[in-house]
Amino acid sequence: MTLGALALLVILVVFLVDRFDETAIAREQSMVESGFDQQMHQLNELVVPQVDWDKAVAKVDRTLDLDFADLDFGNQLYTFDGFTHSFFVDGDGRVTYAYIKGRHAPAESFAPFRRIVKQLLVPIRTAEARRGPIKPHAQGKGPITKPIQANGFARVDGQVYVVMASLIQPDLGLVQPKGPRATVSVNAIPVDRTMLDAFAARYLLDDLKLLPSPDPITDRTSIALRAPDGTVVAALSWIPRQPGSVLLHRMVMPLIAAIAMLALVGWTIVRRSGVVVDELLASEMRARHLAYHDTLTLLPNRALLFERLRALLAAPSLHHPLVGMLCIDLDRFKEVNDTLGHQAGDELLKVMADRLRMLARAEPGAFTARLGGDEFVLVAQARDHAAVAGLAQRCLGVLLTPVDSEFGRLDVGCSIGVTVVDSTVREPSLALRQADLALYRAKARGRGCITFYEQEMEAAFQTRRVLEAKLRTALDLGAFHLVYQPQVDAAGTICAYEALLRWDDPEMGAISPATFIPLAEECGLILGIGEFVLRRVFAQSRDWRGVRVAINVSAIQMRAPGFAARLIQIAAAAGIDPARYDIELTETALLTDSLTTSENFSALKRLGFAIVLDDFGTGYSSLRLLHRFRVDKIKIDRSFVADLGQSNEAETLVGAIVKLARSFHLGVIAEGVETEAQKALLIAAGCHEFQGYLTGRPASLAAITQAQEDARIRELRRA
Ligand code: C2E
Ligand code: CA
Ligand code: CA
Repeated sequence: MTLGALALLVILVVFLVDRFDETAIAREQSMVESGFDQQMHQLNELVVPQVDWDKAVAKVDRTLDLDFADLDFGNQLYTFDGFTHSFFVDGDGRVTYAYIKGRHAPAESFAPFRRIVKQLLVPIRTAEARRGPIKPHAQGKGPITKPIQANGFARVDGQVYVVMASLIQPDLGLVQPKGPRATVSVNAIPVDRTMLDAFAARYLLDDLKLLPSPDPITDRTSIALRAPDGTVVAALSWIPRQPGSVLLHRMVMPLIAAIAMLALVGWTIVRRSGVVVDELLASEMRARHLAYHDTLTLLPNRALLFERLRALLAAPSLHHPLVGMLCIDLDRFKEVNDTLGHQAGDELLKVMADRLRMLARAEPGAFTARLGGDEFVLVAQARDHAAVAGLAQRCLGVLLTPVDSEFGRLDVGCSIGVTVVDSTVREPSLALRQADLALYRAKARGRGCITFYEQEMEAAFQTRRVLEAKLRTALDLGAFHLVYQPQVDAAGTICAYEALLRWDDPEMGAISPATFIPLAEECGLILGIGEFVLRRVFAQSRDWRGVRVAINVSAIQMRAPGFAARLIQIAAAAGIDPARYDIELTETALLTDSLTTSENFSALKRLGFAIVLDDFGTGYSSLRLLHRFRVDKIKIDRSFVADLGQSNEAETLVGAIVKLARSFHLGVIAEGVETEAQKALLIAAGCHEFQGYLTGRPASLAAITQAQEDARIRELRRA
């Protein structure tokens, strides 16, 4: 556009200059024309006193007096006015007198002028006829005639002349012409250098000269000098003043500078706008990339997953008509994140993403995506179910390999939900939902599991939703109760009870806390349920003597701001002694590196509650936790106890845990003790407290109260 504007500007300037010059030239031409006319007029005037003169009529027309003719015409006009040729042509067209450059000449010398004079005579004779005979005139009244003259240009022997014909007629009318056609005086003056220079000087014309004809090609301009019949005799030519061009000439440098400036500005604008456009495009690309990719791992996100999956389903491959979708969840990501910090978590996610990317590279039509958190998706085309199962196995293997990072060895692993769909499935979200349901089941089954989607999972999912609704109602109604499982020492004396929550649904019957507690944690009901437990347990156990009471507290409760304060409030309201209570926390409850958790922890400890680390040994970083949180006791997880007697490692492990507890000066108890053999091995390992079906199943409040009563009576009897 700028270039176009510049070009237009240049064209406009050139056009204007041209127009300007044209007008100037036209004006100069008309000035020269009228100037030359005026020059002719003046020449005419020079002759007038000679021809309009009674004496000339008498001495030239009526009879030719040569002396008079020489004195007053030939010589006079030549010497004073520069007419080189003077002739007299009488009424019959005869040349009666010829005088050239100061000398008499023969009548033949008139020949070259005959043609033009013939033409000039026409208007003269016409005017003479119109004037008619001369009337005698009274003395002293001044001229009675007007001069009758005609002139034109002629070329004679290569020289251009102004040729003038003037009728000789009386001025006062004292003498009458001889006949109706009087003698005509013909005078010629050359258009020579002298005349041209004088004219040029007067009109400031540059290089004025005569050319044979107007020359249209050069930068000169001209006016035509014509014979009376209109034929061009010569051209008066000069170099015209061209003010536009002069102006342009003067303006060229500034103009070029201005144009250069403009061009530069234009160029800069174009470049700048180019850069801006590039930047816009780039930022749009970035935005698009952001909209479709996960910023941490740079993997496609859910939106792009859906887009690609839809494309894959719409155009099934001939050899791989099925699409397998793997929903992958890292098993212990949260623990890594919580114990080692977000940087370690990010690092881990990036490594896992890279591994999945590598894996996808080897599969037909495969790609991977991150759905958020520690959840990934791997999609691949497949020939059959077996191929998808193989892929899932490879995926599991790849992710199981520990990650060596600057944060140490990270050992996570994953659970995988798998679904296989064909092109009849149009909605990507349906496939994802199936894989997600399968994943949910895989996680429920434990770590490192691969689970394929099955139809019944929909139903299970529905059931879960129904259960959630029921749980909500149950909490509203307080439709839970507690049972208490004894903890005994080596002698078999009950030293404590663990409160365990029970829920009997009118339709579904007894539902295990192993089922509904995780559900409550997921759907946010655990805080309400937790408070219910605290209130109920404190109320029921306040008056128990000689036994401690253990209460399970969920990780979510520990993470809730103000949880400890609320607990203390409830404890105070119930009027219990915190020193008699154990709070059982799983390792995950303490893993969260949050300030709230440690605040809650410290507050509970300060008030005198004892803290027991439940399910000890199953977590990720048991040792670190022991170091960080001053717990009072650890509870060996029942999985270790169950293995006792089955393998030597179990004994070694339990032995190690007991030693660890001793070195930290902590109490130690084993849960899930079902056999005497287990108990014996535990005692051998140095553990002297037990909980399990062997020493007492969870019992109702009534049974516990009864047992308490019995114990009191026994005590009294002994006393
Ligand atoms: P937990 O804290 O490890 O509780 C011990 C579980 O082991 C109880 O299952 C108990 O009935 C079971 N058990 C006791 N002795 C034996 C045995 O000899 N062999 C076997 N196989 N199992 C035994 P329960 O009552 O079904 O509770 C399951 C889990 O639910 C608990 O595990 C605890 O994590 C959670 N839970 C129960 N009540 C509450 C509660 O009030 N609040 C919270 N936050 N969680 C609770
Ligand atoms: Ca417990
Ligand atoms: Ca436990």
